[in-house]
Formats: sequence, C-alpha cells, structure tokens
Amino acid sequence: MDRILVSACLVGWPVRFDGGTRTSHDPRLAAWAAEGRLVPICPETAAGLSTPRPAAEIEPGADAEAVHEGRARIVDAAGGDHTSAFLEGARVAVATARVRGCRYALMTEGSPSCGVEFVADGTFSGRRKAGEGVVTRALRAAGVEVFSPADIDALAARIAAEAG
Ligand code: SF4
Repeated sequence: MDRILVSACLVGWPVRFDGGTRTSHDPRLAAWAAEGRLVPICPETAAGLSTPRPAAEIEPGADAEAVHEGRARIVDAAGGDHTSAFLEGARVAVATARVRGCRYALMTEGSPSCGVEFVADGTFSGRRKAGEGVVTRALRAAGVEVFSPADIDALAARIAAEAG
C-alpha cells in the first residue's frame, strides 16, 4: 500500500507558527487515515522549531531552489535567519517518506516549507507568489509526487488506480 506523507496541520495537529491548524475535513483524508495510509509530519517542528514561532518567509525574489543551494534564506519579519532549521525539516521529511514508503505527499499550501503551488512573497504583507516550499522541493527531487489540498481529486485518482 502506497502511503501519503501529509502536512500535520492538515490533519488537525496544532503545529502552525501561530499554534493553529489548517484542518481539512475532506472525507477522503479520514478514509486514508483509517486505512493507515497517512504519515503526518510537521517538518518545522520535526526540525526542533517551537510552537508558536515567528512567521517566516523565503526572501523576496528568491525561491526554494535558491534556499537549497545556499543562495537565499528563510527569515522572520525581524530578519532572524531560520534557514538551517527549515532545511533540516526538509531533510527529515524526505527521510520519513523513504522509511515509511510514501510515494505521494499532500502538503499545506502557502508555507515556506510545505507550499505546493504558491508561497508568501517574502514581504510579510500577505501577498503570495507562485512557487514551492523547501520541503516540497526536496520531496519532488526525491521522487515523491506532491499534491496540494486543491488537487486532492488527482491524489484520490492515483490511490484509486493503485487499489483498482
Ligand atoms: Fe503545517 Fe508544514 Fe507549516 Fe508544519 S511546516 S505547520 S506541517 S505547513
């Protein structure tokens, strides 16, 4: 059975930077959890960051690839540099996906870690831009197919094809 690495805040864990969740109530998530298919992980807390923690964003004009290559940082609004912890979270997520046999991932949109199609633009203004988080980039590089909650139909189709 192919397992799905899932952002922990999507399944109700209060691990967001502000102590909140991004709980999805899609019934397929509950069904996959009941099957033992879900592997929840919060890369940021897995890397040792506390909750709550300062909001952090990829620097303006940079992307996840630049962060992985050491050409850009992930910082908070006061300029605090959290890059090493976020990259550690990406490393732990990839290792977890490998150990647990996760061929797919369902990640929370917009996060500098878990973002799939968009992330904050780095100005702490609430604006977003196209791009992925550093965890999503690392998972994709490791061969994991990453979906956002908006794409859960496509993920369900993969799972159904596997089952059928
Ligand atoms: Fe959710 Fe990912 Fe942020 Fe953790 S790092 S709170 S799982 S979006």
